[in-house]
Amino acid sequence: MTYHSAPQRWPRQILFGDVDAMFASAAVVKDPRLAGKPIAVGGPPPRGIIAAASYAVRPFGVHSAMPTAKALQLCPQLILLPPDRPLYRRLHETMQTVTSRLFPLTEWSSIDEFYAETTDLQSLHPDALTLGQLVKDELYDATGLCCTIAVATGKTVAKIAADNHKPDGLVVVKPGTERSFLAPYPLRALPGIGPKTASKLVALGLTTISDLLDPRWDQPLHRLFGHGLVWLRELAQGIDREPVVADRASKSVSRETTFERDTHDRPFLERTLRGFLRELAHDLRQEGLAAGGCAVKLKDSRFTITTKHGRFPHALNYDPDMWPTVKHALHELMKPGADYRLVGVALTALTQSAPGLFDNRRAKAIEAMDALIARHGSSVIGLGGVSQEE
Ligand SMILES: [Mg+2]
Repeated sequence: MTYHSAPQRWPRQILFGDVDAMFASAAVVKDPRLAGKPIAVGGPPPRGIIAAASYAVRPFGVHSAMPTAKALQLCPQLILLPPDRPLYRRLHETMQTVTSRLFPLTEWSSIDEFYAETTDLQSLHPDALTLGQLVKDELYDATGLCCTIAVATGKTVAKIAADNHKPDGLVVVKPGTERSFLAPYPLRALPGIGPKTASKLVALGLTTISDLLDPRWDQPLHRLFGHGLVWLRELAQGIDREPVVADRASKSVSRETTFERDTHDRPFLERTLRGFLRELAHDLRQEGLAAGGCAVKLKDSRFTITTKHGRFPHALNYDPDMWPTVKHALHELMKPGADYRLVGVALTALTQSAPGLFDNRRAKAIEAMDALIARHGSSVIGLGGVSQEE
């Protein structure tokens, strides 16, 4: 008698995809003669920086964020290519078409990385490995780009798994194995553990993620992380409930109010908008988002609505930096002699606040905590305190 066991159904399933050396690979898609050649994308020396290094030049020690001059010393035969943003944008859009066809919910966290919610696809694709291979193949067929794919029960484990199986990787971390999967990785692999925190932990004698769970270090870890330790220890076991959030870029957030009496008092309108902006920017920071622009809206006593759009110099989520643009839009909009019954502001073109970095509000809070710890030493600074301060 044989037993045929059906694959285990996952309580939650997230698929993470990351294009291998996106910019360098895109150059090969455009010109296949560059395949296997020692290429890198970046600015020319003396001041240029490497934006992406192909896998062919990595054995020489060339990596992104390195000065081009240094990269040329390490690898004199390096072929340096300028960035081609329109090409990256086009490839990104093609990949988005593929992911929106395959998945009910996809979150692109940067131009070449996405999370997909695949829990409900399990009846169609009961085997995670087969699903991962399908996604790899579909993306390659559509773009010529090779991805590393990881499937796990949460975003953090999926991301760490993919980072450690590049290039051309396909990895599945099954439910219940998260803790043992994470255990041997260095502390720095966890999102939110920056170089400063890592060096403090190493000084205490901790080296791997499993050390964070060791009761031997309870006291110093409590001193270092305060209430944040509970969350950090959950993460170290692969407990991670961060949801996949779709279409962040197309969303906007807004506040408006109607006054009891119509007004043309400019300082009053400014104060009202300033208050709204403070709240909206706070919300963005809490969600790890930033806005590329704003829209100010006025309704006058004749119920005529006018709006004025403003664009920030770059995506922002800190209201003092956003205010000059919002204020300027208000001034442009106000007409002499008009009274207003409503004023409002919307923040538009929302994006992840730190593309490429791990994107959740707790990572941001820990980042802030990192900075505080660096400044004030290892006093008791909890996550709760930091996020309330924001
Ligand atoms: Mg990538």
